[in-house]
Amino acid sequence: MVPAFDGSRNRRTRALLHWKDTVTASTRVDLADQTLDELETLVESLGHRRFHARQIVQWVWKRGVTDPFAMSDLPQTLRESLGTQAVVATPVLLREWQSDDGTRKFMLGLADGRQIESVYIPDTPAQTFCISTQVGCAMGCAFCLTGKMGLVRHLSAGEIAGQVRVLAGATGLREAPFNIVLMGMGEPLHNYDATMRALRLLAAPQGFGMTARRVTLSTVGLVPMLDRLAAEPFMPNLAISLHATTEAQRAAIVPPTKKYSLADILDACRRFPVGRRNRITFEYVMLDGVNDSPEDARRLARLMDGIRGKVNLIPLNEAAGIPFDRPSDARVSTFAGILADRGVVVSVRKSRGRDIRAACGQLIVEGHERRSPAQRLSEAMPS
Ligand code: SF4
Repeated sequence: MVPAFDGSRNRRTRALLHWKDTVTASTRVDLADQTLDELETLVESLGHRRFHARQIVQWVWKRGVTDPFAMSDLPQTLRESLGTQAVVATPVLLREWQSDDGTRKFMLGLADGRQIESVYIPDTPAQTFCISTQVGCAMGCAFCLTGKMGLVRHLSAGEIAGQVRVLAGATGLREAPFNIVLMGMGEPLHNYDATMRALRLLAAPQGFGMTARRVTLSTVGLVPMLDRLAAEPFMPNLAISLHATTEAQRAAIVPPTKKYSLADILDACRRFPVGRRNRITFEYVMLDGVNDSPEDARRLARLMDGIRGKVNLIPLNEAAGIPFDRPSDARVSTFAGILADRGVVVSVRKSRGRDIRAACGQLIVEGHERRSPAQRLSEAMPS
């Protein structure tokens, strides 16, 4: 299956050929990977007025058009130049699953034949797209199927943002408001530059015009990158995947991140410029008998001291190959109660899409070579 192209069958065929061209024609400019400034420079270099760049942004981002020849309000000569010198490299929709609860999981194909997964979660309370930033992930969280793949490669900014174009087209939400969470495959701060560039592309007013308030970035807490993020003009909501209350637990659950202690991560959170009306979300996957005791809850409350945060408890989504169990509802409720009694804002995440393996930690593309822990460790550390 190919993305929802506008226009005739001929246009669809041409657009698919453009996508295939990207495999061999890497010298072509990807129009979907260009900021407005860069597009203006490109259009000017092709002998045309800069304002056509805004039209291109609209065609690519608002209308989902991937064939420059179909951008009908551009001058013919510009369309011809773009047709031979540029592509719109959009991930291709290969397969889709729909959950009983309305969640939809999409398998997308990339130009090099790799595959990723993205998820649409309806009414949470807004419409939400959960997108990937890497093929696989180097972090190797012990409860996560994606982590079992190891890192295959980083996604480009165009590939990260392109998932939103495909999902918005597939769900009919191109003109509707939606949220984006960077919680799919991969660790966004391990692919920092491409992730931030993708957010700038998504924020372009002629495109989706995403505001930072509608975007949430989830990270295991790579401290130097957290400090970089703190200085970004486009500041998404921040979610920290904590999952542990002691250093030993953390090393066992998120092995490659032991370079950064819990104390280092929480200090970076204290430095993080959280607005007065905002809070950092601390995600805590609950593993039965591992990190879900009343003592863990009391320790977690103490760790939250001095941080404008809220805790989101995520009872494990069990899966074959994951050596942990989901705690009972009673155990989750006791844990949440201890936090609430100590003044911590706490919620329990309702899992969406478990029946189609679209829930947290369940995204995986089969068939990738698994990395050794040593390889994952060296891949994980930012240079
Ligand atoms: S939970 Fe997130 S950071 Fe951890 S291995 Fe899975 S995808 Fe990577």
